[in-house]
Amino acid sequence: MPDAHLHIAGRWRHAADAGTRDVVNPATGSVFTRVDEATPADATAAIASARATFDDGAWPGTPVTERAALLRRIADLLVLNKAEMARIETLDTGKTVAESEIDMDDVESVLRYYAALIETESDRVVDVGVPGVISRVVREPIGVCVMIAPWNYPLLQISWKIAPALAAGCTMVAKPSEVTPLSTIAFVELCSRAGVPPGVLNLVQGAGSTLGDALTDTDDVDFISFTGGLATGRIISEVAARHVTKVAVELGGKNPHIVFPDADWESSVDQVLTGVFLHSGQVCSSGTRLIVHASIADDFVDALVAGAEQIVMGDGLDPASKTGPLVSAAQLAKMEEFVESAKAEGAVLRTGGGRPDRDGLDPAGYYFAPTIFDHCDATMRIVRDETFGPILTVERFDTEEQALALGNDTDYGLAAGVRTSDAALGERMVRGLRHGTVWLNDFGYYTPAAEWGGFGKSGNGRELGPTGLAEYQETKHIWHNTAPAPSRWFTSTEDGVQ
Ligand code: NDP
Repeated sequence: MPDAHLHIAGRWRHAADAGTRDVVNPATGSVFTRVDEATPADATAAIASARATFDDGAWPGTPVTERAALLRRIADLLVLNKAEMARIETLDTGKTVAESEIDMDDVESVLRYYAALIETESDRVVDVGVPGVISRVVREPIGVCVMIAPWNYPLLQISWKIAPALAAGCTMVAKPSEVTPLSTIAFVELCSRAGVPPGVLNLVQGAGSTLGDALTDTDDVDFISFTGGLATGRIISEVAARHVTKVAVELGGKNPHIVFPDADWESSVDQVLTGVFLHSGQVCSSGTRLIVHASIADDFVDALVAGAEQIVMGDGLDPASKTGPLVSAAQLAKMEEFVESAKAEGAVLRTGGGRPDRDGLDPAGYYFAPTIFDHCDATMRIVRDETFGPILTVERFDTEEQALALGNDTDYGLAAGVRTSDAALGERMVRGLRHGTVWLNDFGYYTPAAEWGGFGKSGNGRELGPTGLAEYQETKHIWHNTAPAPSRWFTSTEDGVQ
């Protein structure tokens, strides 16, 4: 890790006012390091650096093969430093080291995917039907990008932005969540070592509420890519609209997991549990709404309760832990509030509902027990609002139509799962569900080659896949007449005007 933590114009710097912020280990609730915290003036300097570097033209004009090679060098360095990067991510987020290592593998994959994709991109030739005219559509980098990321998958989420932006030839300012800045700082250092030119990848840390305006309320930015909550996404979209800045917001989810009675029992129990309790539920695509056929609901929920009570919680650095604490005291307080509201609305608490009563957990850590509420319905706040924690709600259905209607009865539309052994039923369901990713007899998987994003209030952009690269590009139509001749609209050969 560098000694200073803002990266502007190729130099590591402290904040203009020398301000710093504590970084807390969620497993112990104690401060383990401090990082520099940018002022709005630092954010403006970072934007100016990205603007000047883009306008200079050298980086956007870099041959595609060089940019692809750079992405691969970053991936190589990440692999070499994987153990340390995973440790940092675990200290910062609380997730288990095994999860952090998977995150690092996924970051490597996205870097290599966009290196390969940019090398295979070609111009699109359009036949305009005019002799002598060569018409083609080319893709060019969109320009200066601001990237704002959340705390649940700090490096993974920001890599979905940095990798395509570098591939496209953009310059950028990255801002990780104030809660989890460390892995992004370490990654930007790896990028510098790999040879990312000064001014291409700038980094500021600090509270979104402090830096937000400097990063978004400006004509110097061409694209804002934001991943986070709905309320912040709204604010950023409104500010961007004032400048007609392109914006892509990737927001929350309230994701249904629908289980039909003919579904494979063992994998269904296993994946409903993993789908909601992995990373203590702090996953945007977490399957927090179980929608289960009434004929199997009681037995199925009993099996889930038994499974949830066996989940080994603990410090993410302990290899025995299967899931870690929540990221912050604020998230813990939010869960406690959701539990009270669910009870008040009549949901039946089957397990969890508070801090776990288990030996060996640091009482100052932000642990919250896997929680299951049965007999819920779609009018309840616990079913409608994103909790972003380890809380599963259970709703029952009798018919396919009811299951589909319940699955679509959400303001969000990020992800959904369906479980059935009837292929035709499964196909009808996955086509009927209005969500950006739908799993049939699986849950939670993704690949850098397939688009990720949401319907409805889960956002308006797409990351990953070819669309995730296109977000960082402008298209330009080039009409080239190889045999120019007068059009003779205003001139004629008869009056001699040429
Ligand atoms: P927030 O919306 O609170 O914050 C997200 C980022 O925005 C943080 O970096 C935050 O900074 C910053 N921010 C806050 N206010 C502003 C502002 N006014 N202007 C600019 N930036 C601002 O979300 P969380 O960090 O709490 O993340 C959880 C949310 O992210 C959940 O809703 C989750 O579903 C969603 N998410 C969506 C994903 C998807 O793929 N669709 C993936 C992962 C998460 P700071 O933290 O420093 O305040």
